[in-house]
Amino acid sequence: MKPKRPRKSARSKRPASKRPGHAQARAPRDPLLARMAGADHREIGGVSIDTTRAANGRVKRVCYPPGFRWSTHMKPLVNTPLCMHAHVGFLARGRVRGTYADGCAFDLTAPRAVVIEPGHDAWVVGKDTAVLIEFDTENSTAARFRLPDSHRHA
Ligand SMILES: [Zn+2]
Repeated sequence: MKPKRPRKSARSKRPASKRPGHAQARAPRDPLLARMAGADHREIGGVSIDTTRAANGRVKRVCYPPGFRWSTHMKPLVNTPLCMHAHVGFLARGRVRGTYADGCAFDLTAPRAVVIEPGHDAWVVGKDTAVLIEFDTENSTAARFRLPDSHRHA
């Protein structure tokens, strides 16, 4: 016979109103998607963006929903033929494929570090929200990470 272990659920017997975090009971339980402390939260083109200041740059959590495609959902809002952001960070969940203007392609599946140069289209593959944790310095991101201002070959 196995020795009895303490029940992990014991503290859930406390009344809900006495539990810490009660006010956020409706927030997602998934910590990767939960409300992010101190972040500026925005939604644009179906993409959820949480931004925090970090040192002299920013750390962002960007969630791209299943079915998202930059050229379909974001292009009409930003008025450039391709996404001109540099993305440097960590793809924590999901899969993202994309292409550059010259036909070069990328196919990124979490978990992995990512570097995407400006001048791309990209879309979510599969049924998982793609969650990208990225580091940027706003308009100077490409230069800061020594990336070209648009994808090209040396
Ligand atoms: Zn190329």
